[in-house]
Amino acid sequence: MITTITFNPSIDRMYRVSSMNIGEVQRVVSAKATAGGKGINVTKVCKILQEEPLAMGFLGGYNGEFIKEELRKLDIKNKFTKINQETRNCLNIITDDKVSTEFLEKGPILEDGDLEKFENDIKEVMKSTKILVASGSYCQNIPLDYYEKIGNLCRENNVKFILDTSGEALKVALKSKPYLIKPNTDEIKQLLNIDIESRDEVISAGKKLIEMGAENVCISLGKDGMIYLNAEEVYEAKVPKIEAVNTVGSGDSTIAGFSVGILRGYEIEELLKLSNACGISNALNIETGFVSLEEVEKYKDLVKVTKLS
Ligand code: ATP
Repeated sequence: MITTITFNPSIDRMYRVSSMNIGEVQRVVSAKATAGGKGINVTKVCKILQEEPLAMGFLGGYNGEFIKEELRKLDIKNKFTKINQETRNCLNIITDDKVSTEFLEKGPILEDGDLEKFENDIKEVMKSTKILVASGSYCQNIPLDYYEKIGNLCRENNVKFILDTSGEALKVALKSKPYLIKPNTDEIKQLLNIDIESRDEVISAGKKLIEMGAENVCISLGKDGMIYLNAEEVYEAKVPKIEAVNTVGSGDSTIAGFSVGILRGYEIEELLKLSNACGISNALNIETGFVSLEEVEKYKDLVKVTKLS
């Protein structure tokens, strides 16, 4: 089973407007609200790939109920810890010329006992899960080393820990030796305080992350595919040129592809084909955290995987 953690989910609200002029009344052409947050995107794509993921994290208030209802409609199992404060909204305003402006709320503050409740649930779930995916940033009041704590729990329970976060939370969590991390180049630059211009520099940065504790590192490169490496091998995946519609959530879709492929025991080449095909399919669709099975099948065959060393 695959379990996902989203500590700071959101209702992702998308407004389409003809143009946006600060200080004036804007008429909204269409509005859409979906269950969002990086871990929830991963969950939705795992479900489309015909697995039965379990979504966990924190939900509160009316917004929390809305997200639960959305997951129910998608027939996605969940075991969220209920909190008193309201789950956040994130607003994305897109104009006719495809300019996107995002407003991201901080999210709720946890109260005494919330983290303990979550911890009891996750310890129970560890007994029956094979892969635990944690994605995104913390909500307020979660200690910086909490992903490290989860990573250690995974090790004790023989669960593969896939971590997609950034900054200090990622740096600290590397101590728990996560099975897989998936930074993009911006996240690596920020984490290691380096510049990256060439493929060789991407690979050396990946090697550094392995020295710091990660077992496997996937560095996603958007339209340039990805570099995947561990202590023994380095692979490159090249993706075909596409007309991308919305690349937000492509990284989350990639993580879903990895989770499903690892669960099914895929060899690296097949794993990279599936994960990239998921990223591509997400980019081809306007909805964030959505892939089509037909596109995934089609693009799996068009991703070129090369072993570099
Ligand atoms: P996000 O944080 O928005 O989820 P990310 O920065 O983590 O995204 P990307 O590197 O943008 O992730 O994309 C992940 C994968 O999706 C890439 O490795 C690639 O396979 C696919 N992909 C993304 N953008 C494109 C594109 N424009 N053309 C083809 N494939 C793409």
